[in-house]
Amino acid sequence: MTSLALAVDIGGTKIAAGLVAADGTLVERRRTATPAGPSILPAVFELALPLTHRAVACGIATAGTVDRLGRIASSTDLLTGWAGTDVKGTAERTLRLPGVVLNDCHAAGVAEARVGAARDARLALVVAVGTGIGGAVCVDGRVQAGVTGTAGSIGHLPAPANTGARCSCGALDHIEAHAAGPAIERAHLRATGQALPLAEIGRLGSPVIAEAAALLGRVLAGAANLIDPDAIVIAGGVSMLGSVLLGPLEAAYRAETLPGPSAAPLLPAALGEDAGLVGAGLEALSHLENGSSCAAS
Ligand SMILES: [Zn+2]
Repeated sequence: MTSLALAVDIGGTKIAAGLVAADGTLVERRRTATPAGPSILPAVFELALPLTHRAVACGIATAGTVDRLGRIASSTDLLTGWAGTDVKGTAERTLRLPGVVLNDCHAAGVAEARVGAARDARLALVVAVGTGIGGAVCVDGRVQAGVTGTAGSIGHLPAPANTGARCSCGALDHIEAHAAGPAIERAHLRATGQALPLAEIGRLGSPVIAEAAALLGRVLAGAANLIDPDAIVIAGGVSMLGSVLLGPLEAAYRAETLPGPSAAPLLPAALGEDAGLVGAGLEALSHLENGSSCAAS
């Protein structure tokens, strides 16, 4: 019988749960709205408990920075009171399954690197551009979380701009403050006086998209010059703008990369909004496998 992992993805607006097979197939999916901080884990368990009898392990992807013990080291303003939560310990006790907890962008990176757009890449940089900008560096399908769980935070690289735009982290002129969805909407409002949603700005082909894309392309070029990936995956809602964004992004990327990383393809994500769930499930199954092989040796 195929082993399945119970997978959970906790985001700022919704919580999703499902069962994931080792080939990345998502067998079942359920979702609910994300409640206020203290009610998040109870909502997770209500959603996930009916699936535990079919699962051998549990993987939880969540917004925020996750430390090595599976606790939330820091969190976005969208999840008030989430920082400090011992997600791994509480989930393992409640769900009665061995568990792993990882950042949601890291989980999406694992999914794209193992079964998605970067499945043929050895070193993949996965970038998610949505209401924020996150990322993951994956080597041979394993995410590099760094010492404190912060690695891959490409949204908090400095943008080649000096307008004093305030980033969600508090710093000025990080790329997230220039190229995430809300930043593009603000730029359009400043330029035209019109407050429009991102999709509409994309339909109009507003020049503010090309400006944001060029800044992001330069930042990605810097990141690629540092780590020399063999593929870069662009995910997230902003990437759905398509060629109006990806054209200028790629031009700026090619203009500033060194000869090696200049050859790396920029690929659209393959897994869409399921990437976090799939990655959490795959991570849980591989941890279980590694754990049992260690125990057997
Ligand atoms: Zn920042």
